[in-house]
Amino acid sequence: MTVVILGGTVEARQLAAVLVADGVDVVSSLAGRVGSPSLPPGRVRVGGFGGVSGLAEYLLDQRAAALVDATHPFAATISGNAAQAVSLTDTPLVRLERPGWGKHPGAGFWTWVSDAAAAQAAADSARRPFLTTGRQTLPSFASWADRDVLIRLVDPPLTPLPARWTVILSRGPYSYWGERQILREHAIDVLLTKDSGGAHTVAKLDAAGDLGIPVVIIARPEHPPVRTLRTVAEAATWSKSTLDLRSVGRSSS
Ligand code: NAP
Repeated sequence: MTVVILGGTVEARQLAAVLVADGVDVVSSLAGRVGSPSLPPGRVRVGGFGGVSGLAEYLLDQRAAALVDATHPFAATISGNAAQAVSLTDTPLVRLERPGWGKHPGAGFWTWVSDAAAAQAAADSARRPFLTTGRQTLPSFASWADRDVLIRLVDPPLTPLPARWTVILSRGPYSYWGERQILREHAIDVLLTKDSGGAHTVAKLDAAGDLGIPVVIIARPEHPPVRTLRTVAEAATWSKSTLDLRSVGRSSS
C-alpha cells in the first residue's frame, strides 16, 4: 500500500524522505512547473492529473492508503481537488501546511492584501519595488513598466519583461545578510511577497523590517476544511498509523 504525497514544497520532500527511510512505499506528485525540480526520495510522478476525476482514478490505481496534501499554501486548486477526490475514493487525507508569517514580529506593520492585483494597487506609489510574489503573478504588475522593478524567480519568466525590470533567478534559502544587501544595493522602497511561511524565505522580511522598508504581503487563499498538520514529523506519524490501520482493515476483511 502506498502513501501519495502531493508535493512541490520542502516539507513534501522531507516527508517523503522520512517515510522512504522507514520502508514505506511513497509516490510524490509534482505539477511539473519548474525546470529542474529538487526530487524527493521514492517514486515520483510529474504533471497534472486532469482534475478531480483524474486524481481519484490515480488514487485507486495506486491503491493509495493515504493522501498527504503537502502542496504550497498558495496552490489552492490542487488542494480543493484533493479534498473532492478523497471523498470519491474513501482515501484518508491530511494537509501538511507550514504556519504562515502572521506571528512574525513585523506582521502588524505590513499591508495585508488578498491577491496580486491588490498588492499592485497597495504599492503603486513605489519607484523601486522588490517583487517576490512568483512568476504567475507578474501579469498583475504589467503597469509598472515605467519603474525599476527587481524580481526574484525560481524559473525564467514566460514572457518578455519591460526593459527596466531586473530578474534574479535563484532558489532559497536566503540569509539575512544576503537579503539586506539586495535591499540596499537596489535601493528597494517596497517589498512585495506572499505569506508563504517557513524559514527558507523569511530573511527578507527581517531585513526589510530592520531597514524600515514597507512590506505588502498577499494573504493565503482559502483551503477546504481538511485536517491540517504543521510539521513533517506529525505528518509522518499520521501516514504510518493510517497505513497500519488500512493494512489491518484489508487483512481482516
Ligand atoms: P494550483 O493552482 O493549485 O494547481 C493547478 C493545477 O496544477 C492543478 O489543478 C493540477 O492539475 C496541477 N497540480 C498542482 N499541484 C500538483 C501536484 N503536486 N501534482 C500534480 N498536479 C498538480 O497549483 P500552483 O499554484 O500552480 O502550484 C503548482 C505546484 O507548485 C504545486 O504542487 C505547489 O506545491 C508548487 N508550488 C506552488 C507555489 C505557489 O506559489 N503557488 C510556490 C511553490 C511551489 P490537474 O487539475 O490537471 O490535476
